[in-house]
Amino acid sequence: MMQQYMETKKEYSDCILFYRLGDFYEMFFDDALTASKELEITLTGKNCGQEERAPMCGVPYHAVEGYLNKLVSKGYKVAICEQVEDPKLTKGIVKREVVRVVTPGTNFNPQALDESKNNYIMCIVLFENLFGLSVADITTGDYFVTEIDSARKLIDEINKFMPSEIICNEAFQMSGVDLEDLKNRLNITVYTLESWYFDEELCQRILKDHFKINNLAGLGITDYCCGIIGAGSLLQYLLETQKNSLSHMTTLKPYSTGMFMLIDSSTRRNLELVETLREKQKRGSLLWVLDRTKTAMGARMLRSFIEQPLIDLDEIEERLDCIDELNQKVISREEIREYLSPIYDLERLIGRISYQSANPRDLIAFKNSLSMLPYIKQIAEDFEANLIRKLLQQFDILEDLHSLVERSILDEPPITIREGGIIKEGYSKEVDQLRNAKTEGKTWLAQLESKEREQTGIKNLKIKYNKVFGYYLEVTNSYRDLVPEHYTRKQTLANAERYITPELKELEDMILGAEDKLYALEYQLFTEIRDMIAEQVLRIQNTAKAIAKLDVFTSLALVAERNQYCRPKINKNGLIQIKDGRHPVVEKMITNDLFIANDTILDNENQRISIITGPNMAGKSTYMRQTALIVLLAQIGCFVPAKSADVGIVDRIFTRVGASDDLASGQSTFMVEMTEVANILRNATKNSLLILDEIGRGTSTFDGLSIAWAVVEHISNPKLLGAKTLFATHYHELTELEGKLNSVNNYCIAVKEQGEDIVFLRKIIKGGADKSYGIQVAKLAGVPEPIIERAKVLVEQLSDADIALNAKNIITEQEIERSFGTETIVEEATQLSLFDNSSKEDDEVVLELKSLDIANLTPIEALNILYKFQNVI
Ligand code: ADP
Repeated sequence: MMQQYMETKKEYSDCILFYRLGDFYEMFFDDALTASKELEITLTGKNCGQEERAPMCGVPYHAVEGYLNKLVSKGYKVAICEQVEDPKLTKGIVKREVVRVVTPGTNFNPQALDESKNNYIMCIVLFENLFGLSVADITTGDYFVTEIDSARKLIDEINKFMPSEIICNEAFQMSGVDLEDLKNRLNITVYTLESWYFDEELCQRILKDHFKINNLAGLGITDYCCGIIGAGSLLQYLLETQKNSLSHMTTLKPYSTGMFMLIDSSTRRNLELVETLREKQKRGSLLWVLDRTKTAMGARMLRSFIEQPLIDLDEIEERLDCIDELNQKVISREEIREYLSPIYDLERLIGRISYQSANPRDLIAFKNSLSMLPYIKQIAEDFEANLIRKLLQQFDILEDLHSLVERSILDEPPITIREGGIIKEGYSKEVDQLRNAKTEGKTWLAQLESKEREQTGIKNLKIKYNKVFGYYLEVTNSYRDLVPEHYTRKQTLANAERYITPELKELEDMILGAEDKLYALEYQLFTEIRDMIAEQVLRIQNTAKAIAKLDVFTSLALVAERNQYCRPKINKNGLIQIKDGRHPVVEKMITNDLFIANDTILDNENQRISIITGPNMAGKSTYMRQTALIVLLAQIGCFVPAKSADVGIVDRIFTRVGASDDLASGQSTFMVEMTEVANILRNATKNSLLILDEIGRGTSTFDGLSIAWAVVEHISNPKLLGAKTLFATHYHELTELEGKLNSVNNYCIAVKEQGEDIVFLRKIIKGGADKSYGIQVAKLAGVPEPIIERAKVLVEQLSDADIALNAKNIITEQEIERSFGTETIVEEATQLSLFDNSSKEDDEVVLELKSLDIANLTPIEALNILYKFQNVI
């Protein structure tokens, strides 16, 4: 057996091998050491013919899923090696085979997966300077391919799909993409595959074989030669690990990143599209506000809509029309939603059906879901919206499959497939006959029981059954003396004895014979029914997608209605004009205040850049994010939180806000900030929307202001960039740009002075803020009174020194063009920086200071901390 084990292990050396031995999956050697530690199970040893015992540990077969999921979620690959022969019928060693390799991206166990998310596996191949990228979700059969020409865009795509596993070629591994970051921060397992996987001919052949075509043109992917290699090698990997035909992967969809609004990874995080920045949870994200879907398929589709806003005006309008009509026909909309409610995850169900892992209860869930379809279809047919008309074309009510399951499978079947109780009466004559024999057997047993009781006088004699002895007669000790001689004792318990008789054995043979046959037949019929359904995979998948769409749009319509969103007007001339816009998430999160709506106006002419000033906490970043989210929502094809909105389609949204999540990555905050600014300036176009929050904050005032100033000049100039921008800043000097650059306008968020304090009005108004009110905000945050008083004195002295640039005397527009047009000259600025000579202790103080939760400090705690700092520096 150990030899057999070793041979199998050699083939799957990169996996932990779960080796089936009776009722357990055993692991040996290093696998046992790893698994016992990771799974916290006992490590034992086994004699394996060598001097030392082999380390061994095991998990019971019936509880294997939990252990398997745990290992896989930690990034291990697990190969499951089963006994493929019946041990009872085999002499010598039972034949064993690896039946499946489970990896993070190929796990389809429902317990391990979040039903509202796809579980993607991604293949990335790099050839010369082009990345071929292919993504699949084996639980739903989704399968995509594209090509990408830069590492940065590739990272954006990875962040969009968030696969749990990436497989790649060696060139990609060497490409400089930060694999550790993928592993540690995004929790993605990365495997480099051997080079033969990426053989072009092999990849083409695999794709042709899988889709049963002679020419790849049929898939529309001939332009993607790198993509073909990505898709082919991914399929090869899946076939190898799954050992299944993957017949539910019915289409390979080519796409290009240019079909959608480009959102880079930090913008995705900053705008908190599907999860919050800090807690990484759905509550508090845009998805959280929009998701009122009823089905898992709808939830997944909505997520992908949010992750991929559109840029095509017609497509956007089509979605808006659909929501519009759903909100005009509210009763129908709500009826549809009610019928959607009981629908199970058809996409994953058909996945399991194709995988032959679906059990009888899955088929009942499938049937119950199908029974909703005719109602939904009927209601949807009353709609005129193009999108609904189109989805109805792929909406199949699957009557034949419904009736098949209805006729064949009992309404409350077990989860097991080999122990009968599955097939409905009337579906198969043979099943009915065998079942009769079984029930009659029960009567025979009852008759025998009463006969034996009478003959022996043992009043409580019982005929019972267990798997080890089969049927037996049980006599309690008090009646032991009455047991006749022809009873053969089988087992002695503490208070009873168990016997068999020839007559009982005969009956048992008849009953169990029928039962075995019945179970085998039911199993066979069940798998046939399951295969019949699997053959219709394409029809089911199409319907599932139609259901998902209806779910998404009814959900979006409901959200629009409940939250008083309006239908945006979409234009292509670059105008963004929002009246009474609100932040979709913040308005839901604030409980004791009313959300104050604000207007936004940006265009491609005189209103390209808004410089936004105002004290901390005034609402600057909320305002800027709300503008970005409204544009994004409009391009998702969704109504928006505003009284009215004109949205000019943007090709990309970039944000540069905060730096809180970057500390962990080991780069300095300023470095991260500048890297992002560089990225934005390099990749934005005049059709992009930029949200820049406090650029230049992470360095000295002179440097910071100069950088911020130069950035605004660059962006505002249509010959250089000319992107629409909201720019929040503490450098009031920047408001000087309003008169100098004709596309720059000043706005500020109003506050009201009340004695020595301030009240936030949250209203955006024209003009620049004249004061920072930093001290008042510090006071509101609970900074102790003595410090506030001291700060007031200091601020007077510092203002006198006037550290600001004399902004009024700088530049004209022509000068900017000249300076950007010529080679950039790096001037060495002499500067006095607070932290130039900082020691390690100082750094620690700064770090600790940054991490303080000031709002929740008591004055005494604050003083204690100050005292501690003084002692350190
Ligand atoms: P800033 O960026 O100016 O420091 P924020 O945008 O972070 O300020 O806003 C601070 C807080 O003020 C938010 O968390 C929110 O609770 C509240 N807030 C912001 N804008 C509004 C608004 N328009 N209406 C009501 N409350 C708001």
